Amino acid sequence: MFVSIEKSVLYVVATPIGNRGDISSRAVEVLRGVDLIAAEDTRHSRSLLQYLGIDTPMLALHDHNERQLTGQLVARLLGGESLALISDAGTPLISDPGFPLVRECHAGGVRVTPVPGASALICALSASGLPTDKFVFEGFPPRTQSARREQFGTLNSELRTMVFYESSHRVLDCCRDLAEVLGAQRPAVMARELTKRYETLFHSDLGAICQLLETEPVQRKGEFVILVAGAPKDARQLSAETERVLRVLVDELPLKQAASLAARLTGEKKNALYRQALSWRSEE
Ligand code: SAM
Repeated sequence: MFVSIEKSVLYVVATPIGNRGDISSRAVEVLRGVDLIAAEDTRHSRSLLQYLGIDTPMLALHDHNERQLTGQLVARLLGGESLALISDAGTPLISDPGFPLVRECHAGGVRVTPVPGASALICALSASGLPTDKFVFEGFPPRTQSARREQFGTLNSELRTMVFYESSHRVLDCCRDLAEVLGAQRPAVMARELTKRYETLFHSDLGAICQLLETEPVQRKGEFVILVAGAPKDARQLSAETERVLRVLVDELPLKQAASLAARLTGEKKNALYRQALSWRSEE
C-alpha cells in the first residue's frame, strides 16, 4: 500500500487501546512519513513506535502545554511541514488532548484529516449487546460524589444508551452512584481491559456490576467503559398529584426522607420518587 504524505496537513491518528495488532497499516505509514509526531506522552509512545520500527521525531503535546504550543505547531504546518497527532491510546481528542490544535488548524486554514482506528467507546459499544442505534458519550463522570450524582440525575430520563469512561480508582463508586440514581435494575455492561489479556465484558444490570466489583477486587483493576441502557420508553410517569406531594416534601426535607414519606402517602415506589427528586435537584 502506498500512502502519500501531504505537506501542511495535520493527521489525527488513532493508536491501539491495548492490542498493538490493532494499528492500521495506513496509520503506520503516516507515522513513518510525517515530519513530526505530536504525542501526549513521548515516553509512552516511544515504545509503540520502536515496536513499529518508526523513528520520526516526536514532541510532547499534553493538557498542560497544548495551548502554549498550538500557535507554534500551526505555524510549522503553514510553513509546509506535515504533522501527526497521537495520544497514549485510542483516538486523539476523545477524552484526550488535541482539541485546541485541531480548532486552530481549522481557523488557520490548515487541512486536518483523520486516520481512524480504535476508540474504547466504540469498541465497547460494538460488543455490549445494548442498543447502538442512538447513544450518548458522557466521557469521565465528575470525581466527587455530589457532582457525579447531580450529573447522573440529568440522565434519568435519557432514552439512548449511555457510555462512560472510568478509572480503576473510581469505578466502584461510579457504579454505586449510577445504581442509586438510575436504579439497580437498569441493564448495563462493564467493559474492562478491552483487547487486552484480561478483557471482560460483564452484561447484567447496575446492581450486579456493583456486586461483582465489591466481591472480586481483581475486577476493579485496569481500564473501564461502563455502558448503561437508556430509560425504557414506556416508563410510567408519576401522576400530577404524586409530583405535587413530592415537590412539597422535597422543599422541606432531605431527598431520601422526602421520597420515603411521599411513598407512604401516595403508594408509589420509594426509588422512583427518589430518582424523580434527584433529577429535579440536578435541574435547579
Ligand atoms: N482516546 C481514548 C479512546 O479513544 O478511547 C480514551 C482516552 S481516556 C484518557 C482513557 C479511558 O478510556 C480509560 O480510563 C478507560 O475509561 C477508557 N479505555 C481506554 N482503553 C481501554 C480499554 N482497553 N478497555 C476499557 N476501557 C478503556
